[in-house]
Amino acid sequence: MIVFLKPHTSTSQIAELQMALKQMGFESHMVHQKEICLVPNLKDSSSLSRFSFIDSVKIIDTNFQLSSIEYKKETLFQVNGIQVGTHFSNIIAGPCSVESEEQIFQTAAFLAKNNIRFIRGGAYKPRTSPYSFRGLGKEGLKLLSEAAKQYNLSIVTELMDLSLLDEVQQYADIIQIGSRNMANFYMLGELGKINKPILLKRGMQAKVNEWLLAADYIMSGGNENLILCERGIRSFDPMSRNVMDVAVIPLIQSISHLPIIADPSHGTGDSSLVPVMAKASMVAGANGLMIEIHPNPSKALSDAKQALSFEAFESLLSDIESLKPAIQKPIDATYSVAI
Ligand code: PEP
Ligand code: MN
Repeated sequence: MIVFLKPHTSTSQIAELQMALKQMGFESHMVHQKEICLVPNLKDSSSLSRFSFIDSVKIIDTNFQLSSIEYKKETLFQVNGIQVGTHFSNIIAGPCSVESEEQIFQTAAFLAKNNIRFIRGGAYKPRTSPYSFRGLGKEGLKLLSEAAKQYNLSIVTELMDLSLLDEVQQYADIIQIGSRNMANFYMLGELGKINKPILLKRGMQAKVNEWLLAADYIMSGGNENLILCERGIRSFDPMSRNVMDVAVIPLIQSISHLPIIADPSHGTGDSSLVPVMAKASMVAGANGLMIEIHPNPSKALSDAKQALSFEAFESLLSDIESLKPAIQKPIDATYSVAI
C-alpha cells in the first residue's frame, strides 16, 4: 500500500503512524523528502481511517510499489529541454567507450547532423577482464563533455561505483547504471537521493520483478526520473551474446509507468542483428533506443562486434522514420509533441 500523507504532516505524526503499523505487524518506509509512506504488505486500509493526516491510499498488489502503474500513470521529465517519458521516444547513440578526441568529436558531429540529441560513451568501463581497455576515466568524461557542448548534445554515461558519483554527476545529464550494478542496492538507494535522471539497465539475469524492485530502490529515495533499459539476458546458448527480450517492453508498459528503452547492441552483441532488433523494439512500443556506433567499428577498443558504422546507423534511422506510423510515439525532441 502507498499511503499519501497530507502536506506538512509532522514528524511526530509520522512516528505515530509507523509505530501503529509496526504494532499491526507491518514494516513501513518513508520516501525520502516526500509525504509518502510505503507499507508493501498492507492490503486493507480500514485500520488507517483514524489518522486524520492521511490524505489517500493506493493498494498495490505487487511487491514493487513506486514503479507500479498503480502509483502513477506516466513518467515525464525534461533533460536539457528534451522531453523524456512514457509518451516519448528518445534515441541515444555513441561508442561503447570514449577512446580519443577524434573519435568522440566525429561521433558527436555525426549525431548532431542526424538530429540525435543524446550521446552515450563510457569513461569507466565494466570489463570482464581486468586486462581489457577499461576506459579513459576522467579524461574520457572531459572529452565527452567538450564534444557534447560543441554539438549541443546531452550525455549518458555509466556510473560504476559510488566513489565516482560526484565526478560522473558533474558531466552526465543521465547517469547509466549498467547491468552489473542493477542489484547494487546500496548504490541504488544513494542514487535515489540525487537530482539526476537515471537509466537503469536490466541485470543480465534479472527477472522483471527484480528489475522493478531495483527501480523502487531508486524511487523510494525520492528520485522518480528513471528510464529502464532492456539489454538482453544471459542464456545457455553461446550463439548470441544475450537473449534480447523484446516482449518485456509491452509487458513492462502494462505494469509500470516508467519509460523503457531498448539496447539491441548489448542485447545481441552482433552489428548484423542490431538494426532489426532496434526496429522490432520500436514497433513493440519502446520509448527509445540505445545504440553503439563507432566511426571505425572494427577498431573499437570495446564491443567492436556490435558497433554500427555511421552508414548502418543512418540507414537504421531512415528505416525507423518509415516505421513511424507503426510506432505512434514522437521520436526525440526534434519531433516531439505531447500525445
Ligand atoms: C554499456 O552500455 O556499454 C554496458 C557496459 O552495458 P551493460 O551494462 O548493459 O552491459
Ligand atoms: Mn558496450
